Amino acid sequence: MDDRGVAEDDDRGSAQWADARWPADDHVHSQYSWDAHSGDLEATCARAVQLGLPAISFTEHVDFGAWQPPPGGWTWNGAVRGRMDDHGRFMSAPLEVQAYVEEVERCRHLFPGLRIRCGIELSEGHRFPDEVAELAGWGFERVVGSLHALQDLRHPGEVVELRGALAQRGLLGTVHAYLDEAAVMAASDAPFEVLGHLDYPLRYWPAGAGPLPWDDLEERVRHVLSVLASSGRALEVNTRRPMEVQVVRWWHEVGGQAVSFGSDAHRPEDLAVRWREVADAVSSAGFRPTADPTSFWSRA
Ligand SMILES: [Zn+2]
Ligand SMILES: [Zn+2]
Repeated sequence: MDDRGVAEDDDRGSAQWADARWPADDHVHSQYSWDAHSGDLEATCARAVQLGLPAISFTEHVDFGAWQPPPGGWTWNGAVRGRMDDHGRFMSAPLEVQAYVEEVERCRHLFPGLRIRCGIELSEGHRFPDEVAELAGWGFERVVGSLHALQDLRHPGEVVELRGALAQRGLLGTVHAYLDEAAVMAASDAPFEVLGHLDYPLRYWPAGAGPLPWDDLEERVRHVLSVLASSGRALEVNTRRPMEVQVVRWWHEVGGQAVSFGSDAHRPEDLAVRWREVADAVSSAGFRPTADPTSFWSRA
């Protein structure tokens, strides 16, 4: 959700990077996302062409929830679009769908060699069936289903964004709750085709907290992956942070059929970050590009 820049360990660039094996970037934000103040849809398309990507999916934020503030209040300092409701909860600005769709269409004419999908990143879609139903008519071509908020332990029935959840549950408790909620969402009939950033709470895992306790997490992660595989959806490998390849191996073991790659870029320069490293790792876990370079990778 947040729009901090990613590390500069850039494995892209240069002519040799343009390889037919490189996957599409299926999780990208532009200025139409409420938290992407440096987003630029046209410049992102130009960057995709420069890098030699076969396709790009814009997945702009759609968040229906009202978030209780984290301890100490919000620290976004006006870098996001939204409002406070009468209870001090943050509500992000709604997606301006018509303007967004028109801008995608304009860029399709500017970059005819690039497959540009018009999609959304749907937050907690299983909790907002009526609101989600109203979006159906737009025919989005890619819907990433994500969790950005968890149940608020202090205000029953309310939700808090991850930083608030961390204050209430601690690091490991937040990761557990996130995985449990992801399993509920994966089992739902919410209209999304890719589960986004299963490792989202790990973005907040401090370096000083030591290595991730995979022995503790494995059973929960495998459960989410099994439910997701049964639903027929794809697993996203989000490249904002270095990936844990064992999660993709588990995905293969439980019968997962497809892997989506998403940089979660909120500005053009973060497009396809870590692409080489991640493509190699996903390949080693047993997934391959298909004959259509714009589609998900599938089981070998
Ligand atoms: Zn997200
Ligand atoms: Zn995102």
